[in-house]
Amino acid sequence: MTLRIGCIADDFTGGTDVAAAFRRAGLRTALVFGTPDATTALPADCDAAVVALKSRSIPADEAIADFLAAQRWLWAEGAAQVYFKYCSTFDSTPDGNIGPVTDALMDAAGAAVTLHCPASPPNGRTVYQGHLFVHDQLLSDSPLRHHPLNPMTDAALVRLLSAQTPHQVALIDWTTVRQGVEAVRDALVTHQQAGVQHVIADALTDEDLAVIGAATLELPVVGGAAGLAEGLGHAYPAAGPAAVGPLPRNGRAAVLAGSCSARTLEQIAQFYAAGLPSLHLDVLAAATGRDVTAETLAWYDEQNPALPVLIYASASPEELAAVQAQLGVAEAAAQVEDLLGTLAAHLVERGVRRLLVAGGETSGAVTTALGIRAVLVGEEADPGVPWTYADTPSGDLALMLKSGNFGAPDLFTRALHTPAAQEPK
Ligand code: ADP
Repeated sequence: MTLRIGCIADDFTGGTDVAAAFRRAGLRTALVFGTPDATTALPADCDAAVVALKSRSIPADEAIADFLAAQRWLWAEGAAQVYFKYCSTFDSTPDGNIGPVTDALMDAAGAAVTLHCPASPPNGRTVYQGHLFVHDQLLSDSPLRHHPLNPMTDAALVRLLSAQTPHQVALIDWTTVRQGVEAVRDALVTHQQAGVQHVIADALTDEDLAVIGAATLELPVVGGAAGLAEGLGHAYPAAGPAAVGPLPRNGRAAVLAGSCSARTLEQIAQFYAAGLPSLHLDVLAAATGRDVTAETLAWYDEQNPALPVLIYASASPEELAAVQAQLGVAEAAAQVEDLLGTLAAHLVERGVRRLLVAGGETSGAVTTALGIRAVLVGEEADPGVPWTYADTPSGDLALMLKSGNFGAPDLFTRALHTPAAQEPK
């Protein structure tokens, strides 16, 4: 069995999001962390594989090298089509990386034309007349205009992308998309014959994205957010059994949180309010050489094994600022990531079989510490937050990796504590 579709995501949690979208479309989907190589093994019988990179804000030439390596690996695994997953707010600068990376992927594939659609209607991202909307606002009027790394001050996608590529960019508008799959295919051919390499497509609904997906199945390179990935996924007849799981019933459950995002702080408060065992890590004590790992494991060993535990470094903005002032931002983050990674390895060794990790960077630290290169994607507990399954030397592990602001406030307790949540559909 070989892959039907490969995908490369330009950040870690974007990878989780798009993998969940393929799975919703019925594809048996693997998520691979970092640039894969000959030693990276995929779970058996996958329809789709998503390689999650960290390339959104790095120099374009480095991003291109990472994407081309991932594309070659996906081809070797059998994927004929490669989907470039970027943010639904088209996060990029005039230097890239969306344009340069897409051009490189197309050159390598010998592709004459590609289609982009960053729409993700469930998240309020739509494209109309080539303009990207965030709910009821143009991208350029939304809070994204103040983004610290990629301020988005223009909503016109044709113009935005034209600044990032030497090639022609054109639009397939909503009227054409509404006419259906053949109309979109014809418009692609017309644009291609006119020398256009990049086509932006309008989309207001998931139905529009299903039309665009069906019309672009034959293109070697397609780009967008999780919305079009799901549209494409629906166009591929699934071959593998879509059911993944069930969650391990034996073993213990734990949350490791390193995210300081508002939603994670709410989830921590909700877990604590539910009367479940929680421990706040003393980051400054760890930095002064106290053996916080041993202290934490001693605390863990005393807890009721039937209950999930929460161990968190997450801090309020004031506490975070105080730690960062003392240790420096980078050193503080490195300390916390090292501590949470080490704890993850010990917890799994001690029998944790369901592990929820809060924070994008934190998730990277934990998967690295556990030596996990690829996971199989299962049921979502909340939109964009799926359970995933990994083999570890200690046995099967169900792992939930969530971006800081993802998930409902009761995610931790619902995913780990209610009996119903332990039986995925
Ligand atoms: P998010 O997905 O919310 O952005 P991340 O895990 O990506 O979460 O980022 C949170 C960062 O904050 C991590 O680098 C983590 O190590 C750091 N961090 C967490 N808790 C603390 C703390 N108490 N003091 C200093 N840094 C912290």
